[in-house]
Amino acid sequence: MSEIHEECGVVAIYHLPTGPVSPLAPAQGREEVSRLIPRMLLDLQNRGQLSAGISTYSPNRTQLLRTYKKIGSVSEAFHQSNPGKFARLMDCLAGRAAIGHVRYAPENQIDRDFAHPFERSHIKKSKWFTFAFNGAICNYSELKQELLADDASCFAREADSEVMTHFLCSAIKTYDADLFEVCRQTTKKIDGGYALAFMNAWGHMFVARDPRGMKPLCYAFDGSFFAAASESVALFNLGFSSEDIKNVPPGHMIIVAPDKGVEIKEFCPSSRAAHCFFEWIYFANAASVMDGKSVYLVRKRLGEELAKLETTPYNAEDSIVVPVPDTSKAAADGMAYALKIPCLEGLMRNRYTGRTFIDGGETRKRKAQTKYTPLPQVLEGKRVFLVDDSIVRSTTMRVLIDRLRKVGGAKEVHVRVPCPPILGPCFYGADMSSYSELFATSFMLRHYGLDGVTCSEDLSMKWNFTPEIEEEMAQDLGCDSLRFLPMKATSEAIGIPPLWLCSACVTHEHPTEYGCKLAAKALQEFKLCMKETLLDVPFQKKED
Ligand code: SF4
Repeated sequence: MSEIHEECGVVAIYHLPTGPVSPLAPAQGREEVSRLIPRMLLDLQNRGQLSAGISTYSPNRTQLLRTYKKIGSVSEAFHQSNPGKFARLMDCLAGRAAIGHVRYAPENQIDRDFAHPFERSHIKKSKWFTFAFNGAICNYSELKQELLADDASCFAREADSEVMTHFLCSAIKTYDADLFEVCRQTTKKIDGGYALAFMNAWGHMFVARDPRGMKPLCYAFDGSFFAAASESVALFNLGFSSEDIKNVPPGHMIIVAPDKGVEIKEFCPSSRAAHCFFEWIYFANAASVMDGKSVYLVRKRLGEELAKLETTPYNAEDSIVVPVPDTSKAAADGMAYALKIPCLEGLMRNRYTGRTFIDGGETRKRKAQTKYTPLPQVLEGKRVFLVDDSIVRSTTMRVLIDRLRKVGGAKEVHVRVPCPPILGPCFYGADMSSYSELFATSFMLRHYGLDGVTCSEDLSMKWNFTPEIEEEMAQDLGCDSLRFLPMKATSEAIGIPPLWLCSACVTHEHPTEYGCKLAAKALQEFKLCMKETLLDVPFQKKED
């Protein structure tokens, strides 16, 4: 599935100058652990391929902090296919502490200026800092207006990192090198989800996770060697054991400093966790463990839950389960195993079609056509249960169903989705920001309309997803049947109660105040937009 994107991943690493050198440090020793950053970022490449960047700290050079960032995947940005260039870059950036970042972004923000980390130099060590974050600030517009009310302030770019920079600067002005207060003050007014990594020219670092734990962040340390990352796979591949890797609890930060070692502190009390449930469905690397739950095993269980709901007659001779590569593989395996029918790769993904942002004028439809190849040798004459992790705009799904039949020769195509239909936008970092772009929304609209609806809570009360709507959607997509997994079964498969998950794009229940406000605004825009179209005409198939 390629219609939804997460918008970043962060990593941090530190080898403190005291104590024995960790066996996990690179061959060059503790002063050059920054060399491990590209490897960590590669493990998070699923979270963004637009740009990659690094900031390092070394007391052994005049330029205490040094930042390098470039548009491209990790291997492109760090010139990993050119050993000489890569080695020179790593020599130049060598340091005992480093933070790194990978980024996905919409097409209007592909400039290097938007890439993280952001370094702000200063002749005072506490004021010279660099930071990177994964997430989104929901009250960005309000905070921006507030900051710009002061004539002396300006924004260099239209991005929430600007708000973060302003708040960091003003917190440092008051609290200097007290990183606990710097983090507390910086995040005090921020409404949203984030995982933040910060480092100053004293060589003091902190990583912090938002009070709802919406964005993932984990850490591990071995004596004087500390590492943190958006996903556990990056720490596991450094050599930390599964037992060593812990989640940063919501509203907590970890400070790492030569004089204090590693300290974990709560910077903001958390009233309730709201982990993004889509991490387990789609965003995260299948090898990661998020908030104690293995992504792979959750996906496998989601498939088993789908199998429990299966009512279409099937048999092992002519029925197969086919995953849409790659994130749906575990769910498809789980479903097939439970149904006792084969799980076969009837769709091959072309890994070399290029990243989203270089596709320029290509339409989503064209991209979907070039990205997947149906295999007639597997599909011919088969009843196919096609498992895809979600349907956002439906463009990709329409193309796949059509090609499974016409090119692959499948006799039936039954689409199975291991999560509920997406009915609302996300304001916490995933790139779905309007109601009108969502496939499932148009069907709910036809059935329930928007009369009397003023906020997203109204939608959650009114928009009841039924088998009839599912059937209409199947007809519209051109498949023989369609089934989504209800939220209850989804949260059971994840193993976390629904109250501790964010599922706002499905339930309309936004876990933060400004998330609700943005949803109300988006709803208002949607209503205006719908007034200009005829609601009772058959729904148009969207190409883009
Ligand atoms: S709205 Fe959806 S995609 Fe966004 S954070 Fe919540 S669950 Fe995740």
